[in-house]
Amino acid sequence: MTATHGDAPRATVLVLNCGSSSLKYQLVDPVGGEAIASGIVERIGEEQASAKHMAHGETTRRERQVHDHGEALRLVLNLFDGVGPDLAAAHVVAVGHRVVQGGSRFDGPVLVTEDVQRTIEELSPLAPLHNPPNLTGIRVAQALLPDVPHVAVFDTAFFRTLPEAAATYAIDSEVAQRYRVRRYGAHGTSHQYVSRQVADVLGRPLEDLNQIVLHLGNGASASAVRGGVAVETSMGMTPLEGLVMGTRSGDIDPAVVFHLHRNAGMSIDEIDTLLNRRSGVKGLSGENDFRALHDLVESGDAQARLALDVYLHRLRKYIGAYHAVLGRLDVLTFTAGVGENDDVVRARVVEGLEAFGIEVDSERNAGRKSEPTVVSPDGAKVTVLVVPTNEELAIARQAMEVIGG
Ligand code: AMP
Repeated sequence: MTATHGDAPRATVLVLNCGSSSLKYQLVDPVGGEAIASGIVERIGEEQASAKHMAHGETTRRERQVHDHGEALRLVLNLFDGVGPDLAAAHVVAVGHRVVQGGSRFDGPVLVTEDVQRTIEELSPLAPLHNPPNLTGIRVAQALLPDVPHVAVFDTAFFRTLPEAAATYAIDSEVAQRYRVRRYGAHGTSHQYVSRQVADVLGRPLEDLNQIVLHLGNGASASAVRGGVAVETSMGMTPLEGLVMGTRSGDIDPAVVFHLHRNAGMSIDEIDTLLNRRSGVKGLSGENDFRALHDLVESGDAQARLALDVYLHRLRKYIGAYHAVLGRLDVLTFTAGVGENDDVVRARVVEGLEAFGIEVDSERNAGRKSEPTVVSPDGAKVTVLVVPTNEELAIARQAMEVIGG
């Protein structure tokens, strides 16, 4: 399976993303950008886990009990052994790990050391659902793949440049400092990758561009990027702040939490679950997949219509706010599952923004986009783009930078 450039085997990076009960992976050619193999093990720790491995254009599935992430990674390595591609021949030069929370400490990718692992652990209270499984992934991968360097790529790193005015919550500063309460952002790998792609696609220097990037997937976030430097983002201390998402509420009056605790008798954990898992468009309509949401809207479902209206209203508010933060806006870019595929969302969100110079051409906007595409009319003041994100490739390339490849 290893193609060669001349005589040298092409270097690859194994990218790992460990969730609480899942392990996602991709074997990436960081130069060509190709995903050579990819897959996921889900329901780790449950009675029956399922693994899906995609390589050579074929999908292989396995169903069996997988007790922990170590066993999950062993299963993945067995799949590479049995189905291919052969990892030994694939010239894996690094393992890139997605880590959600890098706090104020990490402003870029780093080689995993004992000290880095300790810091990721220390930051776990800020991302209790994510950092512990990310760290477990690093530890099991180091044990099973000890001969390659491991690199941690932080989802918060791109937002370390946020000005203090944007990163600071207006609460008692001593409390904030002691408990590290500030806005770290998330999805940074995607916002960074996409904002750089924009400059490449337009053939303009990154330094000259004022951009808004809308990462609209099941999780959703917006960023304002001035000259390649992030100056605002919608996610906060955790990914719960900001836009309305598939299952997360986004911005909400914090007093709702006190109210539900005091008057509905809900525990903090129950409210956490409510706002993270049972809110957003799913909480309003019962569906978090936008394809199903549109079907409901078309069938006349009033709650689904409201869900879409609330989602679009929040998004439009953020576009206006970030326009004001940037002063001048050159490019507005849609990315991720909804942003790349949902032409209705793209068209409706810019309705009424013509006065800001933001509009889409209905023919250009129509359909799903698997390639970078300009969807604004010729001569528009703001270029509206769709740019597919690729977080795995971004992680692979950052890992290569760290190892000097
Ligand atoms: P992501 O988190 O980036 O993988 O995005 C996943 C979300 O993208 C899904 O929950 C859907 O809401 C949305 N999505 C995927 N495909 C489509 C499509 N063809 N049309 C509209 N939304 C889509």
